[in-house]
Amino acid sequence: MSSTRALVADAIPASCVDGPGNRYVLFLQGCSFDCLACHNPQTICTRSTPSTRWASIEQILHEVVAAAPFLSGVTVSGGEATLQWRFVLELFERLREHDATRRLSRLVDSNGDADPAVWDALTPAMEGAMIDLKALDAEVHRFLTARGNERVLASLRHLDELDRLTEVRLLVVPGVNDSADQLARTAEWLLHLHTVPPVKVLAFRHAGTRGVARRLREATDDDVERAVATLAATGLVAQSCSS
Ligand code: SF4
Repeated sequence: MSSTRALVADAIPASCVDGPGNRYVLFLQGCSFDCLACHNPQTICTRSTPSTRWASIEQILHEVVAAAPFLSGVTVSGGEATLQWRFVLELFERLREHDATRRLSRLVDSNGDADPAVWDALTPAMEGAMIDLKALDAEVHRFLTARGNERVLASLRHLDELDRLTEVRLLVVPGVNDSADQLARTAEWLLHLHTVPPVKVLAFRHAGTRGVARRLREATDDDVERAVATLAATGLVAQSCSS
């Protein structure tokens, strides 16, 4: 029996918005960013809180096995999943070995703020990573997350080299990261990768955010469709989260 444990914010046995198909999603507690637009700010703190739980590999494996007949995969999200990457690696290895779960795909949903060595370690056990790119522009990224984006861009390049970059996600924050110029430069950057990933465009909403996010405007359907059209015009495969 493994002694490895993770601090867990939440887990849902069935989701169709955290990767392809119907997925068990594990939300690990703790994040390296502090995003203005975070819609789950309670997951940022890296310490245990009344709403978190410590979970063992066996406990999570038990939950996935119970849901497995209805699942196409497992996604580990956050917070930031890679802060607890040793747990993610061991969980993925156990899922790969178990008769009831080995057919399930294993994905990480990440803000990309991880060392290349973390992706190297996870690669043999995971099918891919979905990376949130908050902004290509370093200053805009710092405004939105309080951190630079050098490690995020390095992760995108490295995952591309490892053939593990499944999807890039862009959260449209109107007037901040969705100018035609920024989107065009983002598309140009992504188009230079070896295997150009599909891009999913999400709308910033106030629901779940902290008060400080109220100074940001919510994205309308038109904002999202305009961003999708701008990205798609460059040759990227882009779609809104709802499509
Ligand atoms: S990376 Fe995600 S979980 Fe972390 S602060 Fe930003 S929006 Fe919240």
